[in-house]
Amino acid sequence: MHELSIVCSIVELASQAAEGGIVRRVTIEIGRLSGVDPEAVAFCFPEVARGTPVEGAALDIREVEAEARCDICGAEFPTPDMLSACPCGSLHFKRLRGEELNVKSIEIEEPA
Ligand SMILES: [Zn+2]
Repeated sequence: MHELSIVCSIVELASQAAEGGIVRRVTIEIGRLSGVDPEAVAFCFPEVARGTPVEGAALDIREVEAEARCDICGAEFPTPDMLSACPCGSLHFKRLRGEELNVKSIEIEEPA
């Protein structure tokens, strides 16, 4: 299950960012076409975070809709799967978003 290794990387990143503080909230973006299951990520997170500065932190998952821009007509259109075409019929487009997996922000409480 590759979500587990993804969550491990997120927790590791957040632990390093904490620098002795406590992580309160981690916000991540998961693209619809990233192949990552947000539910599996949410499920693994508390387990992986246990015993780290990230333990007890809230995990905010934002799902990013997949969109592309057509090379022919310039339209931006949703691409819910890999086989989508532009409404104009073109298959030449650049994917704008939807494949990302980003840590957007990490909220840290400084040590008292
Ligand atoms: Zn088009």
